Amino acid sequence: MSDDNPLLAAVEALVKPQKRGRWIERVADTQVPFYAIELVKAPTPMVADPLLEQLESAIGSSMGGSTSGASLKSQSSPLNARALMKALQIASELRRWSRVAAVEPRSPRRSLINELRAWHTATLKRALEPDQETSHVRQLRSWARDIEALLDPPRSRELPDPCPENGCTDWWDRDTRERMTRPVVVRYRVDDDEQPLIDTATASCRSCGHSWNARELAWELQEIERLAAAKIALDGPTQ
Ligand SMILES: [Zn+2]
Repeated sequence: MSDDNPLLAAVEALVKPQKRGRWIERVADTQVPFYAIELVKAPTPMVADPLLEQLESAIGSSMGGSTSGASLKSQSSPLNARALMKALQIASELRRWSRVAAVEPRSPRRSLINELRAWHTATLKRALEPDQETSHVRQLRSWARDIEALLDPPRSRELPDPCPENGCTDWWDRDTRERMTRPVVVRYRVDDDEQPLIDTATASCRSCGHSWNARELAWELQEIERLAAAKIALDGPTQ
Protein backbone atom coordinates (compact mmCIF):
# COMPACT_ATOMS: atom_id res chain seq x y z
CA MET A 1 0.00 0.00 0.00
CA SER A 2 1.15 3.52 -0.72
CA ASP A 3 0.00 4.70 2.75
CA ASP A 4 3.04 3.27 4.51
CA ASN A 5 5.34 3.93 1.55
CA PRO A 6 5.80 7.70 1.34
CA LEU A 7 7.99 7.53 -1.76
CA LEU A 8 5.44 5.48 -3.71
CA ALA A 9 2.65 7.81 -2.51
CA ALA A 10 4.62 10.89 -3.61
CA VAL A 11 5.29 9.34 -7.03
CA GLU A 12 1.66 8.28 -7.45
CA ALA A 13 0.45 11.79 -6.60
CA LEU A 14 2.23 12.94 -9.77
CA VAL A 15 1.67 10.04 -12.20
CA LYS A 16 -1.82 8.73 -11.34
CA PRO A 17 -5.21 10.26 -12.27
CA GLN A 18 -6.41 12.74 -9.67
CA LYS A 19 -9.64 12.46 -7.70
CA ARG A 20 -10.25 16.18 -7.88
CA GLY A 21 -10.45 18.10 -11.09
CA ARG A 22 -9.91 21.72 -11.88
CA TRP A 23 -12.83 23.95 -11.07
CA ILE A 24 -13.62 25.89 -14.18
CA GLU A 25 -17.09 27.15 -13.31
CA ARG A 26 -17.21 30.83 -12.53
CA VAL A 27 -20.12 31.60 -10.27
CA ALA A 28 -21.17 34.92 -11.71
CA ASP A 29 -24.95 35.05 -11.45
CA THR A 30 -25.50 33.95 -7.91
CA GLN A 31 -27.66 35.99 -5.58
CA VAL A 32 -26.24 34.20 -2.56
CA PRO A 33 -24.58 36.73 -0.23
CA PHE A 34 -20.94 36.07 0.50
CA TYR A 35 -21.40 35.19 4.14
CA ALA A 36 -23.59 32.27 3.02
CA ILE A 37 -20.73 30.96 0.88
CA GLU A 38 -20.13 28.08 3.29
CA LEU A 39 -23.57 26.71 2.42
CA VAL A 40 -22.97 26.64 -1.33
CA LYS A 41 -22.94 23.08 -2.64
CA ALA A 42 -19.74 22.14 -4.44
CA PRO A 43 -19.97 20.32 -7.78
CA THR A 44 -19.36 16.58 -7.90
CA PRO A 45 -15.63 15.88 -7.89
CA MET A 46 -14.36 14.68 -11.25
CA VAL A 47 -11.46 12.49 -12.18
CA ALA A 48 -8.63 14.51 -13.69
CA ASP A 49 -5.49 13.55 -15.58
CA PRO A 50 -2.27 12.91 -13.63
CA LEU A 51 -0.62 16.15 -12.48
CA LEU A 52 2.47 15.73 -14.67
CA GLU A 53 0.22 15.14 -17.68
CA GLN A 54 -1.81 18.25 -16.84
CA LEU A 55 1.42 20.21 -16.60
CA GLU A 56 2.57 19.04 -20.03
CA SER A 57 -0.86 19.74 -21.52
CA ALA A 58 -0.73 23.28 -20.11
CA ILE A 59 2.48 23.87 -22.05
CA GLY A 60 1.12 22.24 -25.20
CA SER A 61 -2.07 24.29 -25.23
CA SER A 62 -0.35 27.28 -26.85
CA MET A 63 2.81 25.72 -28.27
CA GLY A 64 1.48 22.57 -29.87
CA GLY A 65 0.80 23.92 -33.35
CA SER A 66 -1.85 25.89 -35.13
CA THR A 67 -4.95 24.02 -33.95
CA SER A 68 -5.01 25.49 -30.46
CA GLY A 69 -7.44 28.30 -29.73
CA ALA A 70 -5.73 31.42 -30.98
CA SER A 71 -8.23 33.73 -29.32
CA LEU A 72 -7.27 32.43 -25.89
CA LYS A 73 -3.57 32.75 -26.51
CA SER A 74 -3.11 36.12 -24.84
CA GLN A 75 -4.91 34.92 -21.71
CA SER A 76 -3.21 31.53 -21.49
CA SER A 77 0.39 32.38 -22.33
CA PRO A 78 1.48 33.39 -18.80
CA LEU A 79 0.23 29.99 -17.59
CA ASN A 80 2.02 28.26 -20.45
CA ALA A 81 5.26 30.04 -19.68
CA ARG A 82 5.06 29.14 -15.99
CA ALA A 83 4.12 25.53 -16.85
CA LEU A 84 7.05 25.32 -19.25
CA MET A 85 9.50 26.63 -16.64
CA LYS A 86 8.23 24.14 -14.05
CA ALA A 87 8.35 21.22 -16.52
CA LEU A 88 11.93 22.09 -17.53
CA GLN A 89 12.96 22.28 -13.89
CA ILE A 90 11.36 18.89 -13.12
CA ALA A 91 12.82 17.30 -16.26
CA SER A 92 16.31 18.48 -15.43
CA GLU A 93 16.11 17.24 -11.84
CA LEU A 94 14.66 13.89 -12.97
CA ARG A 95 17.52 13.48 -15.44
CA ARG A 96 19.95 14.05 -12.58
CA TRP A 97 18.15 11.49 -10.39
CA SER A 98 18.07 9.01 -13.27
CA ARG A 99 21.82 9.34 -13.82
CA VAL A 100 22.44 8.68 -10.11
CA ALA A 101 20.06 5.71 -10.13
CA ALA A 102 21.65 4.42 -13.36
CA VAL A 103 18.38 4.38 -15.27
CA GLU A 104 19.01 3.11 -18.79
CA PRO A 105 18.95 6.04 -21.20
CA ARG A 106 16.17 5.59 -23.74
CA SER A 107 14.71 7.73 -26.47
CA PRO A 108 15.74 11.40 -26.16
CA ARG A 109 12.25 12.66 -25.28
CA ARG A 110 10.08 10.71 -22.86
CA SER A 111 7.10 12.08 -20.99
CA LEU A 112 7.76 13.27 -17.46
CA ILE A 113 5.50 10.50 -16.19
CA ASN A 114 7.59 7.82 -17.89
CA GLU A 115 10.82 9.43 -16.68
CA LEU A 116 9.56 9.42 -13.10
CA ARG A 117 8.21 5.86 -13.36
CA ALA A 118 11.50 4.61 -14.80
CA TRP A 119 13.43 6.31 -12.01
CA HIS A 120 11.09 4.89 -9.35
CA THR A 121 11.43 1.35 -10.77
CA ALA A 122 15.22 1.74 -10.67
CA THR A 123 15.14 2.81 -7.01
CA LEU A 124 13.20 -0.36 -6.13
CA LYS A 125 16.17 -2.43 -7.30
CA ARG A 126 18.73 -0.62 -5.21
CA ALA A 127 17.25 0.71 -2.00
CA LEU A 128 17.72 4.41 -1.25
CA GLU A 129 19.38 5.66 1.93
CA PRO A 130 16.68 6.90 4.38
CA ASP A 131 17.80 10.54 4.17
CA GLN A 132 17.96 10.29 0.36
CA GLU A 133 14.43 8.93 0.32
CA THR A 134 13.22 11.73 2.62
CA SER A 135 14.70 14.38 0.37
CA HIS A 136 13.17 12.80 -2.76
CA VAL A 137 9.76 12.57 -1.09
CA ARG A 138 10.02 16.23 -0.07
CA GLN A 139 10.93 17.24 -3.64
CA LEU A 140 8.15 15.18 -5.23
CA ARG A 141 5.55 16.59 -2.84
CA SER A 142 6.72 20.11 -3.53
CA TRP A 143 6.34 19.52 -7.30
CA ALA A 144 2.78 18.27 -6.77
CA ARG A 145 1.95 21.41 -4.73
CA ASP A 146 3.57 23.70 -7.31
CA ILE A 147 1.68 22.11 -10.20
CA GLU A 148 -1.62 22.26 -8.33
CA ALA A 149 -1.11 25.93 -7.52
CA LEU A 150 -0.11 26.66 -11.11
CA LEU A 151 -3.09 24.88 -12.66
CA ASP A 152 -5.68 25.77 -10.08
CA PRO A 153 -5.67 29.52 -9.55
CA PRO A 154 -8.05 30.82 -6.86
CA ARG A 155 -11.73 30.58 -7.61
CA SER A 156 -13.65 33.78 -7.83
CA ARG A 157 -17.15 34.89 -7.04
CA GLU A 158 -18.71 38.19 -8.01
CA LEU A 159 -20.98 39.71 -5.41
CA PRO A 160 -24.27 41.44 -6.25
CA ASP A 161 -23.67 44.07 -3.52
CA PRO A 162 -22.25 47.54 -4.24
CA CYS A 163 -18.72 48.18 -2.94
CA PRO A 164 -19.14 48.94 0.80
CA GLU A 165 -16.14 51.29 0.79
CA ASN A 166 -17.11 53.74 -1.97
CA GLY A 167 -20.50 52.54 -3.15
CA CYS A 168 -19.16 51.50 -6.58
CA THR A 169 -21.76 49.66 -8.65
CA ASP A 170 -19.90 49.18 -11.93
CA TRP A 171 -16.37 48.80 -13.29
CA TRP A 172 -14.49 48.93 -16.57
CA ASP A 173 -13.41 45.57 -17.99
CA ARG A 174 -10.23 46.08 -20.04
CA ASP A 175 -10.56 42.64 -21.67
CA THR A 176 -14.04 43.11 -23.09
CA ARG A 177 -13.81 46.94 -23.21
CA GLU A 178 -17.21 47.14 -21.60
CA ARG A 179 -18.67 48.62 -18.48
CA MET A 180 -19.71 45.76 -16.19
CA THR A 181 -21.84 45.58 -13.05
CA ARG A 182 -20.86 43.80 -9.81
CA PRO A 183 -17.40 45.25 -9.15
CA VAL A 184 -16.77 43.36 -5.90
CA VAL A 185 -15.14 39.97 -6.34
CA VAL A 186 -14.05 37.41 -3.73
CA ARG A 187 -11.14 35.06 -4.45
CA TYR A 188 -10.75 31.88 -2.46
CA ARG A 189 -9.36 28.37 -2.50
CA VAL A 190 -11.06 25.17 -1.36
CA ASP A 191 -9.96 22.35 0.89
CA ASP A 192 -10.00 18.65 -0.05
CA ASP A 193 -13.75 18.51 0.62
CA GLU A 194 -14.36 21.42 -1.78
CA GLN A 195 -15.21 23.74 1.12
CA PRO A 196 -14.07 27.36 0.68
CA LEU A 197 -11.13 28.39 2.88
CA ILE A 198 -12.62 31.58 4.29
CA ASP A 199 -9.62 32.61 6.41
CA THR A 200 -7.33 33.03 3.40
CA ALA A 201 -10.00 34.44 1.07
CA THR A 202 -9.54 37.99 -0.17
CA ALA A 203 -11.88 40.43 -1.84
CA SER A 204 -11.43 43.52 -3.94
CA CYS A 205 -13.41 46.17 -5.75
CA ARG A 206 -12.54 46.27 -9.45
CA SER A 207 -13.68 49.88 -9.64
CA CYS A 208 -11.87 51.69 -6.79
CA GLY A 209 -9.30 48.98 -6.07
CA HIS A 210 -10.12 48.73 -2.36
CA SER A 211 -9.32 45.32 -0.92
CA TRP A 212 -10.48 43.42 2.13
CA ASN A 213 -9.92 40.06 3.67
CA ALA A 214 -13.12 38.14 3.16
CA ARG A 215 -14.24 38.23 6.78
CA GLU A 216 -13.91 42.03 6.94
CA LEU A 217 -15.99 42.32 3.79
CA ALA A 218 -18.66 39.95 5.07
CA TRP A 219 -18.85 41.95 8.27
CA GLU A 220 -19.19 45.26 6.39
CA LEU A 221 -21.92 43.85 4.15
CA GLN A 222 -23.79 42.44 7.13
CA GLU A 223 -23.44 45.78 8.89
CA ILE A 224 -24.93 47.63 5.89
CA GLU A 225 -27.81 45.18 5.83
CA ARG A 226 -28.33 45.55 9.58
CA LEU A 227 -28.36 49.37 9.31
CA ALA A 228 -30.81 49.19 6.41
CA ALA A 229 -33.06 46.87 8.42
CA ALA A 230 -32.84 49.20 11.45
CA LYS A 231 -33.72 52.18 9.26
CA ILE A 232 -36.79 50.41 7.87
CA ALA A 233 -37.83 49.56 11.41
CA LEU A 234 -37.37 53.21 12.54
CA ASP A 235 -39.19 54.65 9.53
CA GLY A 236 -42.02 52.24 10.09
CA PRO A 237 -44.14 50.71 7.34
CA THR A 238 -44.11 52.92 4.26
CA GLN A 239 -47.78 52.30 3.36
ZN1 LIG B 1 -15.20 50.37 -4.81
